Amino acid sequence: MPKILVIEDEESVRENLLDLLAAEEFETIAAANGKIGLNLALSEAPDLILCDMMMPEMDGFGVLKALRQDPLTVTIPFIFLTAKSAKSDFRQGMDMGADDYLTKPFTRAELLSAIMNKLEKYANLKKYLSAQTGAQKLTPRMQLVERELQLAVKQKYFEGFEIYYQPIIDIKTNKIIGAESLIRWQNSELGPVSPAEFIPLAESNGLIIDIGHWVLTQVCEQINNWRKSGIYPLTFAVNLSAIEFNEPELINKIIHLLNFYNIEPGCLELELTERMIMQDVHTAIYTMNKLRSLGVKIAVDDFGTGYSALIYLKQFPINTLKIDRYFVQDVPNDYQKAAITTALIQMGHNLNLKLVAEGVETEAELAFLRQHNCDAMQGYLFSRPLPKLEFEKFLASNKSLPV
Ligand SMILES: [Mg+2]
Repeated sequence: MPKILVIEDEESVRENLLDLLAAEEFETIAAANGKIGLNLALSEAPDLILCDMMMPEMDGFGVLKALRQDPLTVTIPFIFLTAKSAKSDFRQGMDMGADDYLTKPFTRAELLSAIMNKLEKYANLKKYLSAQTGAQKLTPRMQLVERELQLAVKQKYFEGFEIYYQPIIDIKTNKIIGAESLIRWQNSELGPVSPAEFIPLAESNGLIIDIGHWVLTQVCEQINNWRKSGIYPLTFAVNLSAIEFNEPELINKIIHLLNFYNIEPGCLELELTERMIMQDVHTAIYTMNKLRSLGVKIAVDDFGTGYSALIYLKQFPINTLKIDRYFVQDVPNDYQKAAITTALIQMGHNLNLKLVAEGVETEAELAFLRQHNCDAMQGYLFSRPLPKLEFEKFLASNKSLPV
């Protein structure tokens, strides 16, 4: 049964809530003040937290703030309980990352509906994350990777980490229009560690929040530097993880970075995967709309490999579809891939989206994409991902695609 933590200083309200939840067969734990509540949240890892807003010493805002800063508790659904219905408190709570808000006195039905709603979302997120990391038991190699990852991120300020940029080129104009930023990690003990190895680990232990923020900051700083050195405006894509995408602070972090580095929002494109969107479509659309309202672009990555109901696609406020490398590889000789790729391009264009083919490696693949009006491509045929200095040189070299 899901475990619910109730943090409430008024005994009668607390007992009432606990009875109600127990009657619905939830497992419950209770705290009479914010400090105890916070400790219980960390030690018990509840599935949901109900927390009073007004409490002596540490109030609900303080509890929420601390929870949202710890990777272990950052995604736990948090519902505020309060007697006040002031709009400003409501906004402050939601902006800090509360998931919902109940004004006392609330009915049993209101309480249960809020709880069920958030639990379902959280269960989906957890299922998604455990599918990403596979078996929970780590091999000795992965234990080592995890230890080094903790050390590099938490104590060594991302030593050994670097961002590479893979150029994206417009197939018609032959111009570089941007790049996808990709994280690389060279560890002194382990040598190069592939993102396919450390990213799922970082998602399971929460380090992904720090790593993702570091990547976004590096890329924004770099966009600013390149702009100052006169490189014409390019669009830089950053891959978001499911946890970052669901993190309440994401929007504020991005607003801060855009302002701090004085970046044209359209120069930043966030890549989401189909799976991330599909695990909770309605919330995802809400978040995507918020991001779009800032002016940043959104791409759906690895398109074609997830489980998108195509019916949703037209509701997604996105700019770009990236066709997964699976469909691109050997596409001229595989009539099934050819049929799917052609259909994807056409459908994307009908929805006013830009199509970018990933993993283009041969001239024959490029010729196929050109013939079917795919807008842009990335892949080894044009360039592998490059460290920033090499990317600058590459831009200066004016390399063009084979015709
Ligand atoms: Mg990507």
